[in-house]
Formats: sequence, structure tokens, C-alpha cells
Amino acid sequence: MKNENREEFLQGKYEYYRTYHTWVVILSALASVTFWVSDCQIFGRLAWETLLPRTFILLPLVLFVLASRKTNNYKIMIPFAYVILHGIMWCTIWAIVYLPDKQYAREGFIIMHLMFFAVGFCASFKTSTLAHSLVIVNIIVSNTFNHYESFALMLSLAIPCVIAICGVLRVMEQVYMDLHKAMKSLETTVVLDPLTKVYNRHKLSEMTTRDTANAYLEDMLNAVMMVDVDHFKKVNDTYGHEAGDKVLVYVANQIRSQIRENDAIIRWGGEEFVVIMKNCLPGIAKRRAESIRIAVEENKNEVCPITVSIGVGMFSGTNYKKAILEADKAMYDAKQKGRNQVVMWELQ
Ligand code: GH3
Ligand code: MG
Ligand code: MG
Repeated sequence: MKNENREEFLQGKYEYYRTYHTWVVILSALASVTFWVSDCQIFGRLAWETLLPRTFILLPLVLFVLASRKTNNYKIMIPFAYVILHGIMWCTIWAIVYLPDKQYAREGFIIMHLMFFAVGFCASFKTSTLAHSLVIVNIIVSNTFNHYESFALMLSLAIPCVIAICGVLRVMEQVYMDLHKAMKSLETTVVLDPLTKVYNRHKLSEMTTRDTANAYLEDMLNAVMMVDVDHFKKVNDTYGHEAGDKVLVYVANQIRSQIRENDAIIRWGGEEFVVIMKNCLPGIAKRRAESIRIAVEENKNEVCPITVSIGVGMFSGTNYKKAILEADKAMYDAKQKGRNQVVMWELQ
């Protein structure tokens, strides 16, 4: 997988499990706070000594919740989640310092694996393996001052847990990878015209609906072109439908060659294409339309010489339907003026 595809995959994986991920972190931290009750049971009184260690995690937890409201970047939120999990473990180790009976630490550390398993769903396999392996380091380091009664047993339980959970998470990553690929191919099928590989109308309404956060409706000056192939019916009648299809692919490719990467081509109807050009002044829109017209006319396709008529409308982010209608009217005007030309709506 290429680097940017991998990043997109990991971001998608995080977003897919995001709510679950956030709640796992919150509930794990809150559960660790409630372990103070067991401290009281061990002490046989209110365990004031462990109150601060048991509640300290609430501070980073609040920061985590605030961060999760501000960003959904997996590169920030996944490491942050693991910081909280290790924070829970170190707060537990801190509380154990005061406990008269440390044998329950073994059970406590076993439960920790569940948190790492749950958060590992949204992390990459490498990150989850690294973060989870550090649990063993935590046990070894904390043993130097906590002197666990069953240290060897702790390790012999923790190591297989880490290996088994990392193995399961590796399989889960593959499962999500398959799902991701299926979603991508479905997305492509849904939004692309199968013949010309430009967007279809479904994508256009998605791009121009305000509630689907997209960049096409920002309040800037956008140009809309309506490109219509001249006398296309004759191509079909003379050379056949299949040859007509080849001409449509040729026209779509010529349009694509003349626009910027951020502009969008939509197959509006049979031999009509809408082009949306973001942040484009009328003069530039006219020049681009003219270069499309010339590219179609001058380059060769394998069927027959062909020309297009183009109408151009402008809009500033609010009413794209009106702009398409204006571009359409301008295109009909171009037809009436003799075809193979560009007409600007506002200059009529
Ligand atoms: P004008 O210059 O006025 O635009 O004339 P025209 O012949 O291009 O326009 P008209 O609307 O009369 O014809 C459009 C034709 O496009 C009719 C239809 O059969 C054909 N068409 C629509 N979709 C497809 C397609 O997917 N493939 C092919 N080969 N032809 C198509
Ligand atoms: Mg037409
Ligand atoms: Mg036509």
C-alpha cells in the first residue's frame, strides 16, 4: 500500500471506530477510578493514601475528551489514547505502592490487556503492538520498587496475552482492509459514469449539498460550463452507437486535459457534460472553455471530426442549479449562433 493510501486507510479505520474508541478510553479511565473501592476493602477503611493516584487520571482524561472534540486526526488521537491507557496503568502502579497487600495487582494488570485490545481496533498493527508491549516494560520497571509477590507469574500471564491480542489485532486489520477496499470500489462505482469515468449526477448533488462538508460550495466565485457535442445524433446514425461511445470518451478526455485538478467534470446527460471550476473569474472561465472547444476540434479521435458548443454561467456558492440553467441557456445560444463556440451567460 502506498504511503498516502496507507494514511487514508488508517484515518478511515480510526473514523470508523472513533465513537467506540473514545468511549473505551473514557470508560477504562472511569473504571480505574472506581478501583479505589477495592483499595478501601483491602485497607478495611477509607483508603486516603490511594485517592490521589486513583483519581489523577481524570486530568489527562479531560484533555483527551477536549482534544477529541477538536480533532479527528488519528495521528493525534491514537497516541493520546495510548498515553491515557499507560496513564491508567501508571496510576494503578502508583496506588499499589500504598497497598498493604499487593497480590491483587496481578488481576489488575490482566484487565489492562482488555483496554489495549479495545483501543487496538482503531490503531495500526505496529502502533498497537508497540503500545501493548510496553505493558510488560511497565510491569518490569514497577517491580523494582513495588516488589510484586507474584512477579514471575505476572510476566508469564502478560506475555502470552500481549502476543495473542496483537495476533488478533493483525487479523482484524486485514478484515478492515478488505472492508476498506470494498467501500472504496463501491464509492467509485456509485459516483463515476462507467463509460467516460467522469462524475455522474449523484456526485454532483453530493458536491453541491451544503450538509455534506465539501469544498465546492465555499463562498467563492465558481464557474459552471455546459459542454454539448454538436450533431452527435449524426455520429450515432452514421457510425453506430459504439463509435458514438468512443467519441464521448474522447470528449471527456479532452475536457479533462484542459481543466485544473480541483475542477470537476460531471456527465449531465447523454452527450452533455457539466464542468465546475472552483474560484474562477469569468475571464478565465471563458478562456478555459475556449481551450476545451479548440482541444476537441483540433485533436483527432478514431471516429470522425467533432466539435462542441459551450455555455458558461457563474455562481458564488449558493445556487448551482440556477448557474447550470444559465450555462445551459448560454449553450443553446451557442448552438443557435452556429455551434462550435463559447457563449458567456452574463455577457448576453
Ligand atoms: P446538437 O448539435 O443540437 O446538440 O444535436 P445533437 O444531435 O448532438 O443532439 P440530440 O439531443 O438530438 O442528440 C443527442 C444524441 O445523443 C441522442 C442519443 O441517442 C445520443 N446519446 C445519448 N446518450 C448516449 C450514449 O451513452 N452513447 C451514445 N453513443 N449515444 C448517446
Ligand atoms: Mg444535448
Ligand atoms: Mg448535442
